[in-house]
Amino acid sequence: MEAANKIGSEVPPTVPRLCHFIGGVEREASGGATMRIENPATEEVIATAALGTAEDVDAAVSAARAQFDGGSWSRLSGAERGLLISRLADLVERDAELIADFDATCIGRPPVEPRLLDLPNAIGTLRTSAGWADKIEGRAIPTPGYMGARTLSYTIREPVGVVAAIVPWNTPFMITCWKLGPLLAAGCTVVLKPSEETPLSALHLAQLCKEVGIPDGVVNVVTGCGTVVGAALCVHPGVDKITFTGSPLVGAEIQRTAGPLFKRIALELGGKSPQIVFADADLDAAVQGCSMGLFFNQGQVCAAGTRLLVERAIAEAFANRLAEAASSITVGDPAQPGVQMGAVSKKSQFERVNRYIRQGIDEGARLLAGGETRHRKGWFVKPTVFADATNHMSIAREEIFGPVGTVIPFDAEDDAIAIANDSRYGLAATVWTSDVARAHRVAHAVKAGAIGINCWAPIDPRLPWGGFKSSGIGRECGLAGILAYTEEKVVTVLLK
Ligand code: NAD
Repeated sequence: MEAANKIGSEVPPTVPRLCHFIGGVEREASGGATMRIENPATEEVIATAALGTAEDVDAAVSAARAQFDGGSWSRLSGAERGLLISRLADLVERDAELIADFDATCIGRPPVEPRLLDLPNAIGTLRTSAGWADKIEGRAIPTPGYMGARTLSYTIREPVGVVAAIVPWNTPFMITCWKLGPLLAAGCTVVLKPSEETPLSALHLAQLCKEVGIPDGVVNVVTGCGTVVGAALCVHPGVDKITFTGSPLVGAEIQRTAGPLFKRIALELGGKSPQIVFADADLDAAVQGCSMGLFFNQGQVCAAGTRLLVERAIAEAFANRLAEAASSITVGDPAQPGVQMGAVSKKSQFERVNRYIRQGIDEGARLLAGGETRHRKGWFVKPTVFADATNHMSIAREEIFGPVGTVIPFDAEDDAIAIANDSRYGLAATVWTSDVARAHRVAHAVKAGAIGINCWAPIDPRLPWGGFKSSGIGRECGLAGILAYTEEKVVTVLLK
C-alpha cells in the first residue's frame, strides 16, 4: 500500500496537519498516526492527514447514524435541505480557486483544468441536487383492488440511510460532489472516505457544510488507507449504502465483503473507452477531440478515449496527426508557465504507465510518439501514441490510466462496433462522423453508458453517468443519481 510507505516519515513542522472531520469537529486519528500528502510534480510533502482506524470509522458512522435516526437533519423538509445545499454551492463557488488548487497540487495537474471543468461541474451538481430536494415524489398506482375491495396504492421515497462514499484521486472534488449533492437532497447522512492522495478538498468541503449550517454529523470525513478505512466502512453495521468510485479490483472486493451483508452498493469503475473515427469525420475536430480524450488530466480519466478505432483509409494519416498533437504537448511542473500536462499521480502510476508502454512495444504495436520515460524529479510520463495495434493487445484491453493511446484500424461499420464491444468495459464511447444516421446507429449498438457524437465525454449534472459491464453498477447524476439514495415504499389502503 503506497500510502503506508509514507507513514511515520519526518515532515517539517510548517507542513499543515489535517484531521478527520467527525460530528462537526476535527479529530486526530485514534492512534495519532498520520500519512504524508505529496505533490507528484515536485515530490514535496504538502500536508499530512490523519491515518484513520476502524475506531475512527466507528465514531464517524455513529455521528452519521445519530443524525439520520433522530437528529435535526431527519426533521428537515426537502425544501429546507435544498436551501442548505444551494447555499453550500454558493460557498464552493466562493472558494472555487482554492479548491481547484488543492486538487491540482495533490495530483500534479495544471490548476486550469479543475478550475475550468471540475469546479463548475461540482457547483452545478450541488445546485441541480438542491433543486431536486423538494421534488422527490411518489406515485399513485391504480390496481384492480384487493380481494374484491377497492384500494388506493401509492409509493413514497425514503432516504436510504447512512452512506459510505468512497472516492478516487483523479477528479476528487467533482466526484465527491456527485455523491454528496444527491445524497443530501435525498435526506441521507454520510461518511466520506477520500483517496489517500487527495483529502484536502473533501476536508474543506466538510468545513463549508458546517459554515452553511448543515447539522454536525450529517457530513463526516475519515482519511486514511482504503484497506483500513474503506474496508471498515464497507462492513460496518451502521452503514446502509456504499457508493464507490474507483478501480474494478476494489469494486469487486466491496461486492465480496459488503454484498453478503445486503448493503446497497453503487459502483462507478474503470473504462477502456473507444473513440470510433470514420473517414467522413471532420478530421481536425476528431484529432483535437481524441487528443483531449487521451491526454486530459494526464490520461487519468475513467472515460479516457484510449482505444482509437479508425477507418483503415485514414488510419495512417490520423495516427500521424495524433502523434504530432501528442508531441506538441509541454509536460512539466504545472506551476511553471506554459506547461500543459503535469505529472501522473504517484510513483506506482508512473511505473504502471511505463510498464504498459514496454508491453505495447513487446506485443508489436508501432510507437509513434512518446514512449518510456526515465524518472527525474516528479512523476512525469510522455504523451504516447501507438499505431498498428490490435484489440487483442494488453494496451487495447486493459485500463492504463495514463496518457497512452492505441490506434486500431477497422474496415466497416459492423467491424468497428464489434471491436468497440469486445471489451470487459462499457463506460463511454465517442463516434466521429458526418453521417447523422450512422452516428445514431453506432451509438445504439455500442454497449456503454455514455456516447458522445462528435464530442468526447460530455458530462453534466443533469445527465446520468455510469457503466455497462465491468465499468460499474448503477448511475450517478441526473434524476437516477438522486433516486439512487432512496428506498421506494408502497402503501395500500383498503377503501371498503
Ligand atoms: P482505487 O480503487 O485504488 O481506490 C478508490 C478508493 O477506494 C480510494 O479512496 C481507496 O482508498 C479506496 N479503497 C482501496 N481499497 C479499498 C478497500 N479494500 N475497500 C474499500 N475502499 C478501498 O482507485 P483509484 O486508483 O483511486 O482510482 C482510479 C480508478 O477509478 C480507475 O479505475 C478509474 O477508471 C476509476 N474511476 C471511475 C470513475 C467513474 O465515474 N466510473 C471516475 C473516476 C475514476
